Amino acid sequence: MPSTMADRFANDPGTRIRQATEAIEPRLVEIRRDIHAHPELAFEETRTAGIVAAELARLGIPYRTGVGRTGVLGTIEGGRPGPTLAIRADMDALPIHEQTGLPFASTIAGKMHACGHDIHTATLLGVAEVLKGLAPQLAGRVVLVFQPAEEALGGAAAMIADGAVEGVDMALGFHNMPDMPVGRFGYCRGSTLAAADRFDLVVRGRSGHAAHPSDAIDPIVAAAAFVSQAQTVVSREIDPLHPAVVTIGMFHGGSAPNIIPESVELRGTVRTLHGKARDTAEAALRRLAAGLEAMHRVRCDLRYNRGVPPLVNSDRVLDPAIASVRAQFGDVVEEGRPSMGAEDFAEFAERVPAFQLRIGSGAPGRNDHLHNAGYQPDERCIGLGVQALSRIALDILS
Ligand code: MN
Repeated sequence: MPSTMADRFANDPGTRIRQATEAIEPRLVEIRRDIHAHPELAFEETRTAGIVAAELARLGIPYRTGVGRTGVLGTIEGGRPGPTLAIRADMDALPIHEQTGLPFASTIAGKMHACGHDIHTATLLGVAEVLKGLAPQLAGRVVLVFQPAEEALGGAAAMIADGAVEGVDMALGFHNMPDMPVGRFGYCRGSTLAAADRFDLVVRGRSGHAAHPSDAIDPIVAAAAFVSQAQTVVSREIDPLHPAVVTIGMFHGGSAPNIIPESVELRGTVRTLHGKARDTAEAALRRLAAGLEAMHRVRCDLRYNRGVPPLVNSDRVLDPAIASVRAQFGDVVEEGRPSMGAEDFAEFAERVPAFQLRIGSGAPGRNDHLHNAGYQPDERCIGLGVQALSRIALDILS
């Protein structure tokens, strides 16, 4: 009887994954601290990519470097045929001067891993090692996506252009969350992060003397009217049940109090969670710019650029993933709210069914935020993330 018990114990996937993770956790923390001390900005992640490549080589996992400029793509073949699951981590740091005072703080002035992408890279390396050990049991293939330039929102598209989703059937992403205590996990159904688009508008009038406005065409009055009108896009045009934000963050024009300037330049962003709201906002701003010409005799030059799409989680990946996290840890999972932030994992989610898991990284007694110069995630989130993601992959590919 004891031997049967022992066999059953050893075969329990949760125990196997936990033990395999605990064995490598100190090494993963070391890797994370090394990456943390040497942060690299978007598309400059050559040192980080080198660490990733060396680890994958050590594990005997075939990989390709230079994918999407500085990305790395690894592949773990399962023992049986089945679908292909991509798991994605981002690697880039932020232009922030670190103020944690930690012994492994950034050694590069003005650069810091303040969004925890160092945590993400170390976590996916841990997943690589655990899943490599479980490969004979996997039915299918795992593609490990080490992505550059998330903060610049160009890395995912660059990797996809280089073939990162070819043959991929579904994708799994994750992010550390300091507003959730370490040990907790979160998810958001459907639209979870916003599309982020931007526009530049140049309003051209005719310069002249402030004393003689009738001889000029005043672009300041016209641009001010545009700013006011833009407030009606969300309040009067977009479905009130679809969140949207229109922010004009730049308004430049004029050089002296007694001169009507030639032109005014405005820049803004539009964030939406749903495609219909996104289309409505763009159409409305284009129409308001066109209408301004008739209303104020100005000429409007509007450049509207669509950025990343909204991140929409698929229930097809979310439901089994959450069930796996519960199977591994018990009831530590909570449903969260969407955010108007943006994240280019959305590029993957637009092409294949995908889900982004939120991994609690809040240290006891701290009140941390992402993109803050003092951010200190609780490093236990690395091992817990490895267990959760490995369990999800094992269950999906079983
Ligand atoms: Mn991030």
